[in-house]
Amino acid sequence: MSRDSIPAEIRRAVLVEAGHRCAIPTCRATTTEIAHIVPWAESHDHSFENLIALCPNCHTRFDQKKEMDRLAVKMYKHNLGILNNRYGEFERRLFEVLAKSNERVFVLGAAGDLLVANAVKDGFFEDKHVQGMSLDINGDNGFSKSFPMTFTYWVTDAGVEFIKRFSNGNDIA
Ligand SMILES: [Zn+2]
Repeated sequence: MSRDSIPAEIRRAVLVEAGHRCAIPTCRATTTEIAHIVPWAESHDHSFENLIALCPNCHTRFDQKKEMDRLAVKMYKHNLGILNNRYGEFERRLFEVLAKSNERVFVLGAAGDLLVANAVKDGFFEDKHVQGMSLDINGDNGFSKSFPMTFTYWVTDAGVEFIKRFSNGNDIA
């Protein structure tokens, strides 16, 4: 096998794993290349486990400038697997946004409680039931119900810690 013969299905799986973005949590650029965690010259390993999606910039920082070490990149890969298994797309994006903004409070629209259900279950976000907008339904048969249209969440201390670990490339397992 040559350096360029990464099978198409493995290439696709590596890109899907990272959501077709750079796998470095603080980067997430949309232009991606496939990088070998243990270099091809050393490993001759084109397996899914040894490959990660990086943008050209991060790829150079890792491969040539050695600004990221192999263990760190292995940890980013390991964390991607956990994030994909445990959290939804919306939650993963929210972790990235919060890692950059350091916000401790955020407001979500209708069905926001469903979008962050896993992270709430893990104790990272807390709904303090702030009165927000609601939709009042009154049927002519006497049915009456109020549906919340906004949800306000606090990022807990555990959530801050998790987001920090995720963003720094520490083990989130
Ligand atoms: Zn990058």
